[in-house]
Amino acid sequence: MKIAAIHTIALSCPCDPPYASASGVQSRRGALLVEVETDNGIVGIGESGLGGGVTATVIEKDLAPMLIGEDPLMIEGLWQKMFARTRQYGRGGVVMQGMSGIDIALWDIAGKVAKMPVYKLLGACRDRVEAYASGGFYQEGKSAADLAGEAEGYRARGFKGMKMKIGRNPSTQTHLRQLIGNTGFCEVDPSEDLARVAAVRAALGPRAKLMVDVNCAWSPAFAIEMGRAMEPYNLYWIEEPVATDDIEGSAKVADALATPIAGYETEMGLYRFRELIGRGAVDIVQIDVAWSGGFSEGRRIAAYAQAHHRMVAPHAFAGAVLLMASLHFAAAIPNGLVLEWDQNPNAIRDELLKEGLRLESDGTIKLPERPGLGIELDRAAVDRYRAG
Ligand SMILES: [Mg+2]
Repeated sequence: MKIAAIHTIALSCPCDPPYASASGVQSRRGALLVEVETDNGIVGIGESGLGGGVTATVIEKDLAPMLIGEDPLMIEGLWQKMFARTRQYGRGGVVMQGMSGIDIALWDIAGKVAKMPVYKLLGACRDRVEAYASGGFYQEGKSAADLAGEAEGYRARGFKGMKMKIGRNPSTQTHLRQLIGNTGFCEVDPSEDLARVAAVRAALGPRAKLMVDVNCAWSPAFAIEMGRAMEPYNLYWIEEPVATDDIEGSAKVADALATPIAGYETEMGLYRFRELIGRGAVDIVQIDVAWSGGFSEGRRIAAYAQAHHRMVAPHAFAGAVLLMASLHFAAAIPNGLVLEWDQNPNAIRDELLKEGLRLESDGTIKLPERPGLGIELDRAAVDRYRAG
């Protein structure tokens, strides 16, 4: 069997009304599908980070020519070849995003050949994974009471936990939002964030997992101050409290607070996660398999995390293929903790698969037993959301 062709499909859908985290306003959602075709008719499907729209070019013009004619089951060899040949301009960024989507598609092919689901091919550790509702964004006119209502809705549907956004504050002792733009949108005083967290904790009850996501907006000193103020709400984790590259700062925050620090979805690759984990910047490791090197590199990062007694909570905030791949990943690795299931309106997550994910009554998602990722794309939906 040989790789015959690799192509990408960019998808996009509007967010109406838009919503915001501490560092960005979301007015559209996007995803980049990667299809790896073989000469015997098997097609593997993956998903890459969009990378500002240029990942598709990297995949089609740079990575695909390295792989055409190769055996798609030599997954590790192909990964290492892509990494080595792009070493002067890759090792992260859009190259790693492109490699990730290809890697996911190659594992999908391997599962289809073996007639096994990917999570079992990777040596399954569990056949169901607890999912948490990822939402709680800022939105114009959305009050703390509205946010509490959103939390109650997740609880009623059977979720055992949720994540909300905080940190969209005028004074964070950093320049992140000024640089990104849209500073005025839904800005709140830190005291209002504390009230939002209190409202959600009251709505969820004392036992549910409650996580907050700062999206890299705070300085270490401010993160420690806010972390201490949030101690009464018994948070399950504080996510990306400081800048991704401020490894020392994140380690200081992790050291100062009893609440676990989770991150950094904005990081990529084994060697960068080695720094985050090894230097104590994170208590819970968040790998995005569509950005951080796919299943192949994700497993290595998870093993390094395991060696430091750290759990892994995959980040998944794009399309349906990434969500399914993240489910397989969380089920395969020994230290898979919980799966992020974004609950914002997103057609690219909800409409793309003929058979999507379903939350069980115990707050988990059962793994599909179909071969590969176990997905079949709804081609009409793909065409509906094709970008450009
Ligand atoms: Mg996050």
